[in-house]
Amino acid sequence: MHTAVFTTMIALVPLHLLFVSFTLASTVPPVNTVAPNDTCNEYELVGRKDWGAKPPKDVVSMVLPVKYVFIHHTAMSSCTTRDACIKAVKDVQDLHMDGRGWSDAGYNFLVGEDGRAYQVRGWNRTGAHTKSYNDVAVAVSVMGDYTSRLPNQKALDTVQNLLACGVQKGFITPNYELFGHRDVRKTECPGEKFYQYIRTWKHYSTNYPTLHIKRGSATTAVASATLLTVTLLANGLIILVNL
Ligand SMILES: [Zn+2]
Repeated sequence: MHTAVFTTMIALVPLHLLFVSFTLASTVPPVNTVAPNDTCNEYELVGRKDWGAKPPKDVVSMVLPVKYVFIHHTAMSSCTTRDACIKAVKDVQDLHMDGRGWSDAGYNFLVGEDGRAYQVRGWNRTGAHTKSYNDVAVAVSVMGDYTSRLPNQKALDTVQNLLACGVQKGFITPNYELFGHRDVRKTECPGEKFYQYIRTWKHYSTNYPTLHIKRGSATTAVASATLLTVTLLANGLIILVNL
């Protein structure tokens, strides 16, 4: 096409059409942006290498997806910066590995008031956090003591986004049930204030799961003597009282 003809064609395009096409082009979102419902991008996950984790002494995988989630607090230092939170995560790992002799820090994830989640055992490893439930549940622990105050909003949002991401990725079931540590053990964890707050969350459940004890490869449901008093009446009725 001759340059002169092309120039004439451009000149013939009405100006208002050029303006419309320019406006449309400038409002179309760029391709390959994160989908708005991709909750895994709503928070920053700090991997084990990035926080300088010591290698685990043992790794036991977990059958996925899990149906149960337990919320904890560390009752140790809280933190509001990446550096402070990395130190707090390492303190938890030192306590659990060196102090208690566990194979790794016990939780699946730690969350700081810096708004970051820190990978500990991750989604697919059995933890050491909630006796009798370690192989059927994911545990998220917020760093700090939440007896008399709540974790800040950043930390609360990250816990929720982390769990939504777990559902999205298929690690936990969409209808998962959430509990506080104290719901199944005699402990203050996750702290009075935080515990009352998680009871308002959509997935919070008072339908405490049947306990499990692993025997070889079989998982047997049992009633735990620490939680249930069994009363055998004269007429043969058995009453289970949840303490
Ligand atoms: Zn706990």
